[in-house]
Amino acid sequence: MIRYDDERTSLTLEYRRLHEGGDPQDVTITPRMVVLHHTGGPSADAAWRYFNRPTIESGRATLAKAGRVNVGAQFLVDRDGTIFRLMPEDWHARHCVGLNHVAIGVENVGDGKEHPLTAAQIEADARLIRYLAATFPITHVIGHNEALQMREHPYFHEEVAGYKTRKGDPGPAFMAAVRERIADLRLEGPPPKADAAR
Ligand SMILES: [Zn+2]
Repeated sequence: MIRYDDERTSLTLEYRRLHEGGDPQDVTITPRMVVLHHTGGPSADAAWRYFNRPTIESGRATLAKAGRVNVGAQFLVDRDGTIFRLMPEDWHARHCVGLNHVAIGVENVGDGKEHPLTAAQIEADARLIRYLAATFPITHVIGHNEALQMREHPYFHEEVAGYKTRKGDPGPAFMAAVRERIADLRLEGPPPKADAAR
């Protein structure tokens, strides 16, 4: 688990009001999708320490301006496939612009370069998605690299005009490998890429 104390709770509510609108009274979400990521580094311990801080590091200027709560995710998957649950599945984590109010984040330890994601992580993510889909009304599984394709989807909600981030993680090869293993669940991916040219 990561620290989800009063400070993180109030910063999360601040983020929700700013980006998701309305007047949210708590940090619970109704999970409708799973977003897969990679951490950008080789160590689960370092990733945990990073996510454990309630406030975002000031160096991440664009993110800090958009809210002080730190990034995080509900799950962290180590390179050997060990799954760590960092917070309850239906608590809000900041991991994917416009979708955090409906999305469970899964961070895989690795960077897609010197530390490519592993076969064990593919199996672990598939197993985790299978569990989540059996527990929550999940309809979509996407990679963070596919998030901008969700902008026209009703799930997407971002109050701050022009606030978006372009991400490459975890990439098409990893997504294809995971999807192959959960094909029977018939979960949707992002809408087709037609609007990528816009
Ligand atoms: Zn990501």
